[in-house]
Amino acid sequence: MNTASDIIVIGAALNGLAAALALGGRHAKRPLDVTVIDLKDPRSFVSGSFDGRASAITASARRMFEALGVWSAVAGDAQAMVDIIVTDSAKPGAARPVLLQFGPEDMKGGPSAHMVENRHLYGAMLEEALASPHISFLIGQPVESFSFGPGLAAVKLADATEHRASLIVAADGRNSAAREAAGIKLVGWPYDQKGLVATVEHDLPHNGRAEEHFTPSGPFAILPLPGNRSSLVWSERTGEADRMMALDEEGFAAELRLRFGTHLGDVRLISGRHAYPLSMFIAGSFTANRLALVGDAAHVLHPLAGLGFNLGLRDVAALAECIHDAAALGLDIGSAQILERYQMWRRFDTVATGAAMDGMNRLFSNTNPVLTLLRRAGLMAVNRMGGLKSMFVGEASGFSGSLPKLLRGEQV
Ligand SMILES: Cc1cc2nc3c(=O)[nH]c(=O)nc-3n(C[C@H](O)[C@H](O)[C@H](O)COP(=O)(O)OP(=O)(O)OC[C@H]3O[C@@H](n4cnc5c(N)ncnc54)[C@H](O)[C@@H]3O)c2cc1C
Repeated sequence: MNTASDIIVIGAALNGLAAALALGGRHAKRPLDVTVIDLKDPRSFVSGSFDGRASAITASARRMFEALGVWSAVAGDAQAMVDIIVTDSAKPGAARPVLLQFGPEDMKGGPSAHMVENRHLYGAMLEEALASPHISFLIGQPVESFSFGPGLAAVKLADATEHRASLIVAADGRNSAAREAAGIKLVGWPYDQKGLVATVEHDLPHNGRAEEHFTPSGPFAILPLPGNRSSLVWSERTGEADRMMALDEEGFAAELRLRFGTHLGDVRLISGRHAYPLSMFIAGSFTANRLALVGDAAHVLHPLAGLGFNLGLRDVAALAECIHDAAALGLDIGSAQILERYQMWRRFDTVATGAAMDGMNRLFSNTNPVLTLLRRAGLMAVNRMGGLKSMFVGEASGFSGSLPKLLRGEQV
């Protein structure tokens, strides 16, 4: 059956569901009619084996979840991050003195972030979207073709049905077919690194502490989950990561223990292992005729600061504000003027964040003795400067820059 709605969102993963809720959810002041299209069934995303990742949800992203009506459904599965330490060591298993620490005294306004497993985020957002009368789903069909006409946009699915809207929001991930169809090029590069992701259980409590251990092959992050559990994001050179993935369980556990250390007692793998190729790509434009890109369709960054989805939420919040403002004035929500406001709001911020993440990865993932000395001195200097530390905590909490209303917890 052919359909017509205000907005089509392509992709029903983290950013697509957030976009659907911000534009047409039950908590939007004037919900628009939204059709969400995904070739995969989003109910499968809730299974633990689909996506082993957990996300650091910043304090501002948490406010957005509250405004969208989904925070109460994940709060019980969220672990507050109340302490962050950063170390820099020459090789796995070597001594790693703490060079930089953000403790509870640096987070007087509350935790900078909460760790939540992605399966819980998918589950809570999907449930809320299914309960929203203005959101409908078309699942199981890939988009065959796009048309970005002057007055309307449309997609044709594999079953030959056609779906029209004033605007297409592409949340279809790093290989976005919508972005490609609109001829938008990417700027960036792949890293010779993969991110290994797994969940572990340990004997001793983490007390809400997140650990980022920089090593020459890439950062090894231990991120606290509820209970005596932690999520690992372990970056390795691609060849080494492939070797780790091919190891039997015992061999993998031995490598993991070497990097994890013994400070939390015995550590056991309690999940499957996932490997994600790492890269930095930013779309040359976040918009085209009747098209807006959000999330990984617009940008893919190194996960060393756990910012990817948080940047996606910033896109969604800014876009939703531009669209709802236009709708309230009776303007065309897919017009070039509205899309330009979104692009101006988001692209510069993303390029600046992407460049910072890329610079940090290059600075830390090497053994050059001069760079090693410089970065260690730099971390220790930041650790002694209260003002600079508060600035970093503000960044980590997601309160820097021009904040859209949803990220301030206000409904749009
Ligand atoms: C190792 C690792 C750790 C990370 N940790 C963090 C963290 O701590 N904090 C954080 O904020 N971010 C983190 N990120 C980043 C974050 O996970 C991603 O930015 C986020 O998952 C991207 O979601 P998305 O919805 O944009 O895209 P995707 O998850 O790629 O979803 C795209 C969706 O579109 C659908 N789709 C694609 N093509 C089509 C088509 N043609 N037709 C129909 N449907 C289509 C797909 O089926 C899919 O459901 C991490 C990333 C990695 C790799």
